[in-house]
Amino acid sequence: MPDSPPSRTRMVLIVIGLLVVASVVVLFTSDSAQQEAKLRAGEALGEVALARVAAATAASGGSQHERSADLIKVPIEVKKLNDFVFQARGVGNTHLIATSEGNVIFDTGLVLQAAKQRRVLDEAVPEAPITHVILSHSHQDHVGGTTFWTEDGTEIVAHYEFPEEQRYLKELTPYLHDRNRTLFPWLPEKVPSLGPLDYGNIEPTILVRDGEPFAFELGGVRFEVLPTPGAEGADNVCLWLPDHKILFSGDFFGPLFPQFPNVFTMRGEKVRKPIEYIESLETLIALEPEMIVPSHDAPIAGKEQIRADMERMRDAVRYVHDATIAGMNAGKTVHELMAEIVLPPELALRQVHGKVSWAVRSIWEYYATWFHFDTTTELYPVPDREVFSDLAELAGADALVKRARSYLKEEREVHALHLMDVVLEAEPSHRGGLQVRKEALESLLKQAEGGVRNAYEMDFLKSRIRATEQAMGPAGGPA
Ligand SMILES: [Zn+2]
Repeated sequence: MPDSPPSRTRMVLIVIGLLVVASVVVLFTSDSAQQEAKLRAGEALGEVALARVAAATAASGGSQHERSADLIKVPIEVKKLNDFVFQARGVGNTHLIATSEGNVIFDTGLVLQAAKQRRVLDEAVPEAPITHVILSHSHQDHVGGTTFWTEDGTEIVAHYEFPEEQRYLKELTPYLHDRNRTLFPWLPEKVPSLGPLDYGNIEPTILVRDGEPFAFELGGVRFEVLPTPGAEGADNVCLWLPDHKILFSGDFFGPLFPQFPNVFTMRGEKVRKPIEYIESLETLIALEPEMIVPSHDAPIAGKEQIRADMERMRDAVRYVHDATIAGMNAGKTVHELMAEIVLPPELALRQVHGKVSWAVRSIWEYYATWFHFDTTTELYPVPDREVFSDLAELAGADALVKRARSYLKEEREVHALHLMDVVLEAEPSHRGGLQVRKEALESLLKQAEGGVRNAYEMDFLKSRIRATEQAMGPAGGPA
């Protein structure tokens, strides 16, 4: 397993892990000691994660998983964005807005980094009560440090749908963890138990409903929490400082701005509503922000450019949405539309996070759901895979491999992969079948790397290549 740390390192990690759990259990005793112990447990947790990433990277020769590993290694430091806005960088940023009557926090980062974020912000900003913690949405990389910031009287502000989104993400943790582990192989095999730092225990005290922004004033600064559903879930809010024209966008635009958004992620979450997203974008465009402060990466300044970029994102989603509807009404299949619909040059956007063809599919399925009306077999729990062995036996595995090879020559890699699904279902260690599968995946990866460089697509292809190589065994040897 290329992502397993060597056994000695693993032992060290297990020991550190146990220490962390022990300290978390001990800590809930006295008040200020409690906060300190919580922070220490959080910091220890971060160190375990870093050690894990380092071990996994070393075990794989340092060549794999650079992207996910780099994310964890992002240095945690404070950027002062103006006189009173501070950003602690990390995988997910934590923001502190300081006023003369107390401080407001927007997003609290990943649990592995959040304690350190609190430490660096404490060093940069004089101590004051935390009056509000505002959470952009329920994803782990935005809420992990909430417990480090809440004190007696702190309001936790979130979208009305936050509890429901948090509930299903928590209930599906094992399922989602397995999927995420395919994309981020340095994650531990099972979700570690972190006691009070576990995901899924946040109880907001103020819930913001769609169409009803929550406004307050503190120390002369006006705050508006705007419901903006449809982006990274139904529970998105943004924070707007109307007097300063600063928009804290959370994940509304995704990890980059501008880009084609993840209308609906392939990681496996609930559907996201495309029209709701467009409407939320309209709300934000109308504000005319001069600065966007996202919860990933650096702020973006420049009113005109921000406006143009937001409009392009809106128009691109609208274009893909309308083209999908038109295609459905014209009787086209989802696969035809995935291949056909591309953004016109004036709406071109990066597709590093969201991908247009996947948006087409997700919009199609958002409206038509699971039954595609393609074949009767969709109605029954018998997938086509169940007759692949018959096909392989009748056609002969070697003949199928030969045909797949000619597909590879024509750069029809997915055709080759379909045929290898048949071969490898019948004979999972068929050497020629594994070899063709590997070459087809490598060719798709090369195209992805030379194309829109969608991170999820590249990570998934890499994971499939690793799995195929494992099935092939040591180079030259039998599988
Ligand atoms: Zn995020």
